[in-house]
Amino acid sequence: MDDRQILLDALHFHGHKCWASTMGVRIGLAAMRALGVERSGAKALHAIVEIGEHHGAMCFGDGVQFATGCTFGKGNIEKDPKGKLGLTLIDKASGRAVRVHYKPTLQPRVKASAFMQKRTAGVPPTKIPESEQWELVDLVWNAPEGDVLVVEAVESRAWHEPEEVVRFAVCEECGELVAEPYLRVVNGQVRCRDCAGYPA
Ligand SMILES: [Zn+2]
Ligand SMILES: [Zn+2]
Repeated sequence: MDDRQILLDALHFHGHKCWASTMGVRIGLAAMRALGVERSGAKALHAIVEIGEHHGAMCFGDGVQFATGCTFGKGNIEKDPKGKLGLTLIDKASGRAVRVHYKPTLQPRVKASAFMQKRTAGVPPTKIPESEQWELVDLVWNAPEGDVLVVEAVESRAWHEPEEVVRFAVCEECGELVAEPYLRVVNGQVRCRDCAGYPA
């Protein structure tokens, strides 16, 4: 798949077109190239993203997830919340990692774009004309790599895989399937947290 197609698919997954998700794709791809690795179909890679909570540009995380295959569902992505567009990608097998971060050279143009002016005024991204969405996506996508990101040195980084509990049981109260580490015992019955009747 070529990079533009990866971008198009990522934006489809993300739900709208924006500069931060686009940069997530670019930075994810740059990190994979620096390590010489493929997208993580299983859990060969682990990502640490530096976005936090409740701030702009968190869309970065979706671009990273789509490009690298490090996803919430596979559990091979985590946040180290610093409010930054930074990614550390770890190749578990070779014990190497690289950090790639956004370089804000174009930030004045991003901020001045019709898209961001409307976002700042509270317009939801999906209500902004398609042409203005593309204008901003293409600004960061077509820029020379050195203008928008920095690939730091590849470093060694040991990885210790946490044990994955694969066992499940059915809650005897609600009948839902529950992963074993989350089961509680109440009067000799196994129950989920919702049905246990006491705090987690
Ligand atoms: Zn977005
Ligand atoms: Zn239950």
